[in-house]
Amino acid sequence: MAESGLDTKTIKCPICSSVIQKDALHVCSCKRRISPISVMEMSAPSSIGSSEYMVFPVENATRDLNSGKDLLSKASNVEKKPSQQQWARGNFTEGKVPHIRMDDGATIQEIYTFGRILGQGSFGMVIEATDKETETKWAIKKVNKDKAGSSAVKLLEREVNILKIVKHQHIIHLEQVFETPKRMYLVMELCEDGELKEILGKKGHFSENETRWIIQSLASAIAYLHSKDIVHRDLKLENIMVKSSFVDGNNEMNLNIKVTDFGLAVRKQGGSESMMQTTCGTPIYMAPEVINAHDYSQQCDIWSIGVIMYILLCGEPPFLASSEEKLFELIRKGELHFENPVWDSISDSAKSVLKQLMKVDPAHRITAKELLDNQWITGNTLASTRPTNVLEMMKEWKNNPESDEENTTDQKKSSWLDQEKSKDYQPKGNVHDANKTSEEEEKQVPESVNDLKFCCSPGSPLLVKVRRQTWTVWTHALQV
Ligand code: ADP
Repeated sequence: MAESGLDTKTIKCPICSSVIQKDALHVCSCKRRISPISVMEMSAPSSIGSSEYMVFPVENATRDLNSGKDLLSKASNVEKKPSQQQWARGNFTEGKVPHIRMDDGATIQEIYTFGRILGQGSFGMVIEATDKETETKWAIKKVNKDKAGSSAVKLLEREVNILKIVKHQHIIHLEQVFETPKRMYLVMELCEDGELKEILGKKGHFSENETRWIIQSLASAIAYLHSKDIVHRDLKLENIMVKSSFVDGNNEMNLNIKVTDFGLAVRKQGGSESMMQTTCGTPIYMAPEVINAHDYSQQCDIWSIGVIMYILLCGEPPFLASSEEKLFELIRKGELHFENPVWDSISDSAKSVLKQLMKVDPAHRITAKELLDNQWITGNTLASTRPTNVLEMMKEWKNNPESDEENTTDQKKSSWLDQEKSKDYQPKGNVHDANKTSEEEEKQVPESVNDLKFCCSPGSPLLVKVRRQTWTVWTHALQV
């Protein structure tokens, strides 16, 4: 490629005269006019943070900037036509996540039509967007880097770097990333049915079969992550999205779930470093060894699966207390209670799975892979002792009228869920105004979501509240 007399590491744009480092991830400011190149980073699927670059020829640059997808399809064409010598390019492997850096976000408005606001995250908004060319709908997370702060950006980068290297049917798919000096835009697959927690809130609790299918998908996602030495560390209902769902002939919900929010995820190193010590997660889902800030491994995710399963089955968490300290005490003891009448219709094998998931000693806790092979998960047991005919149902109701789903039990059950609902700020359903400036939108972020909250009691680790109910030991904060 012609490089206008500059050294081999730089290229000069003849229109806007900006000098671009060939290795730097940058798109020159005259992008709507014909630009000599566009430089694009591709994530490598095998290692976090590594990247490759593609350099595109003059005649394709304008279109390329309009759509990251176009870049990909053109890249594929290049693969097919190696004789086209005008293409100077790095190694391209299909399936990589494009990370496109540009001067401002105007181009993004040209690629997508923005629609309703899907949710307000801790560091930015998630908006539904339709690709104008392909008409595919996406969920775009838009984060103002300055507003979020450097620590939040680190969490986001961590999330992006992990999402770039994972590919699983029950893990949220990251399609591409756009980055300007001020903002990051994560283009993710759209989960039309929202949060699992919201569906649970409406239902009160799931049936044993419904729970089994959800836990099966979750176990498969976590077994996949653990096989790649990735620990999620913040598994909770809020981080499980529902892409689609249907109700089957038995009136049971089948949910296609996606694990999201990899901001606290880590990739373990081998040997002694494979144990972690940072206290992070969300209190009611935290494993005892995490609370104690003892060495812990991926087994902390298994404990959280147990908490999720317990909540799905009965509508409330296994451990609830009036203070964090008391809650941690209950978690350390790890005594599971099945006294509530809703448990009467749950099979012993489901309760046994819960006990195996929530063994206080992580060494005795079932692994994700073992969970996948468990008979309750595979369905090789008499799944549920739920009555199957009307007579049995009437008998059960007579003995235990509170077990009726529409009855008082669920009103009691939903109390935790009701409280949880009121905690979340969810401006869902609003239509995103494409003309509204990012600054105006960001004003809608409640002040508290960006606040860090500290919790330090004698003998317990310093916890910092970083996002909705998520706590972590913030090393930067500790250094201040
Ligand atoms: P947080 O920063 O609190 O973890 P996010 O920024 O990831 O939250 O998401 C904020 C909200 O946007 C979520 O609570 C959810 O309702 C919605 N949301 C996030 N990702 C998606 C998605 N892929 N599809 C649909 N809605 C989403």
